[in-house]
Amino acid sequence: MLSVPTMNPDLKLLIELQELDSAIEGLSAEMQRLPRKIAEIEEQLAAHIRKREADQQALAGNQQARRKRESEIAALREKISRYRNQMLDVKTNEQYRALLHEIEFHETEIRKLEDEILAEMVASESLEESLRGSEQSLAEERSRAHEEITTAKKQQQEEEKKLSDVQARREAAQQRLTADVYARYQRIAALRKGLAVAPASDGACQACYVRLRPQAYNDVKTNQQILVCESCNRILYYVPPPPPSA
Ligand SMILES: [Zn+2]
Repeated sequence: MLSVPTMNPDLKLLIELQELDSAIEGLSAEMQRLPRKIAEIEEQLAAHIRKREADQQALAGNQQARRKRESEIAALREKISRYRNQMLDVKTNEQYRALLHEIEFHETEIRKLEDEILAEMVASESLEESLRGSEQSLAEERSRAHEEITTAKKQQQEEEKKLSDVQARREAAQQRLTADVYARYQRIAALRKGLAVAPASDGACQACYVRLRPQAYNDVKTNQQILVCESCNRILYYVPPPPPSA
């Protein structure tokens, strides 16, 4: 840091105040970003949970369909055995053939259902595999989300602490500043998106880049008064260039 021993004390405080206000602005923006980040992580996790649920439902649907067909087969088998019992009591060939025809028809139905069950069993293998995959990625996502949320919350606490430190320092700087100079600072800051104090160098205001009149620039260079840029109205101060290194 370069020492500026003869700087106007109010100007020095204004520079400090500006630095603190800019830091507060940056911290506030960062603190608004963190809850959004946490919500994003939670949403990603929720998507993984939904995927696992969908896979669970698909597998349950498959198993339910199989059980339904199995009970249909059982019902058909019962019918067949009833027909077989009836065959023992038939009086005519015609009745016998009719029962035999019924039995064959039901057996065909059973084979159809068994084929469907087989297809469902094959399908269930890939459904189970997909469920295992989504369970694994959910577990990974859970631990990743937990870690990231923990980090974000810790960061949030650190930033809250930093913010209250900076706010306390700002309070102290404000207390030391002449009341009307502070009021002036606040007015300019309100009009200039929070930037009320700017450096001047190379003959120009470094906030709006408009050149200063030579006399005005020379006055700014002394850092003895509270002077403003004629173009943007910001309070100006001068930082001498670093001496060339030997
Ligand atoms: Zn300016």
